[in-house]
Amino acid sequence: MFLKRLDIAGFKSFADRASVDFVKGVTAVVGPNGSGKSNITDAVRWVLGEQSAKSLRGGKMEDIIFAGSDSRKGLNLAEVTLTLDNEDHFLPIDYHEVSITRKVFRSGESEYYINNQSCRLKDIVDLFMDSGLGKEAFSIISQGKVEEILSSKAEERRSIFEEAAGVLKYKSRKKKAEHK
Ligand code: ATP
Ligand code: MG
Repeated sequence: MFLKRLDIAGFKSFADRASVDFVKGVTAVVGPNGSGKSNITDAVRWVLGEQSAKSLRGGKMEDIIFAGSDSRKGLNLAEVTLTLDNEDHFLPIDYHEVSITRKVFRSGESEYYINNQSCRLKDIVDLFMDSGLGKEAFSIISQGKVEEILSSKAEERRSIFEEAAGVLKYKSRKKKAEHK
């Protein structure tokens, strides 16, 4: 499995529809300060189910919608689609290619899709749980995260290793079962 493509529209600084094609191997994104590099990783985390506006470097979820500039009015909708190659069926779904879409309207309403079919946020979170690609996964190390990992408590560090090892989904199912 690998990331193939990211389509962004109305998300943060991306007022126009923009696409990033990832090739197998390493992709580096370069640009001046404030040009939107981190906004690209924010878009990836957001489409994978990030619910915390703060960790997307905003105050509220609405802040991820393009707010407007000197020459341009703000928008009412942010939309991100992440397309993954799933030829190896690494993701437990019967498709060679999986696309995940998330939309949010300024009214606060959200929509989620897996391969263009409407779904719940939970379906997306479940699909990626233990894949190493979830919103909390070790695959995305943001600025400052390295120090956080080094200085965090032993239990917090342990949960990072648990997700990497693929046991988090069993823990969360156990917890749910115990609450029933
Ligand atoms: P650095 O090299 O400093 O890390 P960067 O390339 O990672 O910079 P980002 O943090 O991705 O830059 O982008 C910041 C820019 O995104 C700022 O100019 C900010 O105004 C803009 N931005 C963030 N949210 C919105 C929004 N909702 N609407 C319009 N622009 C936004
Ligand atoms: Mg940055």
